[in-house]
Amino acid sequence: MSSDIHFRRIALIGIGLIGSSLARLIRRERLADTVTAYSRSAATRQRAKELDLVDHLDDDPGAAAAGADLVVLCTPVGSYSTIVEAMAPRLDAGAIVTDVGSVKRAVIDAVAPRLPENVHFVPAHPISGTEYSGPEAGFDTLFEGRWCVLTPPAGTDPDAVEKVAAFWRRAGSQVDLMSPDHHDMVLAITSHIPHLLAYNIVGTVADLEAQTQREAIKYAAGGFRDFTRIAASDPVMWRDVFLNNKEAVLEMLGRFTEDLASLQRAIRWGDGDALEAKFVRTRAIRRDVIEADQA
Ligand code: NAP
Repeated sequence: MSSDIHFRRIALIGIGLIGSSLARLIRRERLADTVTAYSRSAATRQRAKELDLVDHLDDDPGAAAAGADLVVLCTPVGSYSTIVEAMAPRLDAGAIVTDVGSVKRAVIDAVAPRLPENVHFVPAHPISGTEYSGPEAGFDTLFEGRWCVLTPPAGTDPDAVEKVAAFWRRAGSQVDLMSPDHHDMVLAITSHIPHLLAYNIVGTVADLEAQTQREAIKYAAGGFRDFTRIAASDPVMWRDVFLNNKEAVLEMLGRFTEDLASLQRAIRWGDGDALEAKFVRTRAIRRDVIEADQA
């Protein structure tokens, strides 16, 4: 029964936006007897301590993970292999290791071979977040009404998968299972490329000469304002997403640039019908997103 899910000790490896949101939620829902966390910087550990997010804080991922029956990796995906290597010898037999990383194939390749055979690995991605970072940015309702996608490799223990699914359901999320490659392709177009576009548009403004740039900021219309919000997202996290989902992002970017070229042609040729037809179709997608309760 998902409502009965309980862990003896949960270790949060990383206590930024996602890790601290989980810490708050675990406390609220009483999902563990003890919660430990790792963060590499003294400043983040100090903030987490002041916010009273967990029972113990450590600067060593192995020490934080020792004795835990659930370990959740909540650091940028590029740091996983080093972290897992450091904590692997300290993991309990039967422990479940899961993660929250925004890409899944590269994460499985980095984590699975570094874990002992007697530990379960259930990769996960909560599709919820904000552009803010750090322990003070988290909140316990972050995952409510959102999806969490699990991408367990073939042969993963079904009980471990169900425990992780139950954990996310207690966070208020709906849980779906997907193959890691399919996840990476879907997320490339729904999340990674939109972020790349935002970084690019705002980057273009950043490169404008000073006077035009001041005007762009002063008269930031709805569109640009929304892009600046997305382009304020954590630079390290997003660097790692693009480096670790290269194939899928390049594939979707290819389609995107073809479609952009056709819009460019329609504008050049004054083809209003083509522009309007495209905008009618995109408006329908927005309605679908609202109806799916994902707006
Ligand atoms: P965050 O707020 O920036 O927190 C990152 C945490 O990881 C901090 O504890 C930080 O420690 C630690 N960290 C950063 N770089 C590290 C490194 N090289 N080695 C070891 N520890 C490191 O990040 P976040 O937004 O919570 O993101 C964490 C994970 O969640 C990422 O894998 C991301 O893909 C995934 N995710 C994010 C979102 C989102 O919207 N933000 C949504 C879904 C999934 P210090 O502060 O001590 O340096």
